[in-house]
Amino acid sequence: MKKFNVAVLPGDGIGSEIVAEAVKVLKTIEKKTNVEFVLTEALVGGASIDAYGRPLTDETLSIALKSDAVLLGAVGGTKWEGLEYSMRPERALLALRKELGLFANLRPARIYKPLIDASTLKPEVIDGVDLMVVRELTGGLYFGAPRGVEKLPDGAERGVNTMVYTTPEIERIACAAFDAARKRTKKLCSVDKANVLETTELWRRVVIRVGKDYPDVALSHMYVDNCAMQLVRNPKQFDVIVTENMFGDILSDEASMLTGSIGMLPSASLGAAKNRAMYEPIHGSAPDIAGKGIANPIATILSVAMMLKYSFDMEDAAAKIETAVENVLEKGFRTADIYSVGKTGTRRVSCAEMGAAIVKELA
Ligand code: NAD
Repeated sequence: MKKFNVAVLPGDGIGSEIVAEAVKVLKTIEKKTNVEFVLTEALVGGASIDAYGRPLTDETLSIALKSDAVLLGAVGGTKWEGLEYSMRPERALLALRKELGLFANLRPARIYKPLIDASTLKPEVIDGVDLMVVRELTGGLYFGAPRGVEKLPDGAERGVNTMVYTTPEIERIACAAFDAARKRTKKLCSVDKANVLETTELWRRVVIRVGKDYPDVALSHMYVDNCAMQLVRNPKQFDVIVTENMFGDILSDEASMLTGSIGMLPSASLGAAKNRAMYEPIHGSAPDIAGKGIANPIATILSVAMMLKYSFDMEDAAAKIETAVENVLEKGFRTADIYSVGKTGTRRVSCAEMGAAIVKELA
């Protein structure tokens, strides 16, 4: 029997509610396959600050480093907002990404037919959208040096940030994106600004070179401004998009909003080794609804599906979870965030009821 160690870090706010449902799904998969998931739960973010005075303890980090994958809920909340920046719950995420070397952020955005009305775009534009943004997570403009704001002799100030990429950094994110494209429809669009920025001109050259090892994947290139426009004009043209850190930050938020529902979207952050991976919903800890039992657990449940697909090569089980989610939506189950009053055939359910419906569908 195969055995995988999973670090479970619920975090703050709705984190414990949504992670509890995702764990039930993982346990259901365990019963139906010849695989054992050994779960180790630990505190992170505000919960860890309250217990130990720090957002990420050595113990939690060590559990994450020893695991085959990390499942995270969300961190943060108003309670900790007054703390000094380095002590805030969100620092735990940055530290986990750094320590695990998570350089590739995979964010799928898929339209579920029953939720087509949730998007602000016309149904015919978004019907069938199923794309994924692969964002480089540890380099580029957000990390490059020199950086900072300095005073000039004339009293004015000068702010500097630097976009830096080395060939190995581009190679590894390109490989991650080509690998992801291989698990989907084998279409990859690399997004850059090669007409203006030398760094991204290098990006394009390296992606083309890496692409020679993936002759089965159709590679195209697009400038970032055009991509931002194409994502709302005709999002169906995309399958996998790969891009640098800041472009990816912006484009992945734009892509996620095509679906109109933040509670539905999972993500994966991957490192160089197979056992370096963290899976989490794209949303935050939603303090406004925490403890009410009304959060949507689907983003976290779909993050478990990504874990099965990308960390454990359990593609069939991942597909079963995605189908179960689709079927439950088809049957009319809706948490508050995706519920429209008066829509016939739908039923407003709690976080736990949504989790139970998905588990039942799987079982
Ligand atoms: P948020 O994503 O937590 O919430 C935005 C809105 O979406 C809220 O109205 C919330 O109720 C709703 N929402 C989010 N997830 C939902 C779900 N699963 N079901 C139903 N509704 C949902 O963003 P925010 O309010 O800007 O941030 C709240 C806290 O979360 C902050 O402390 C922020 O720093 C933190 N945060 C953490 C992460 C993370 O852990 N990865 C990401 C973003 C924000």
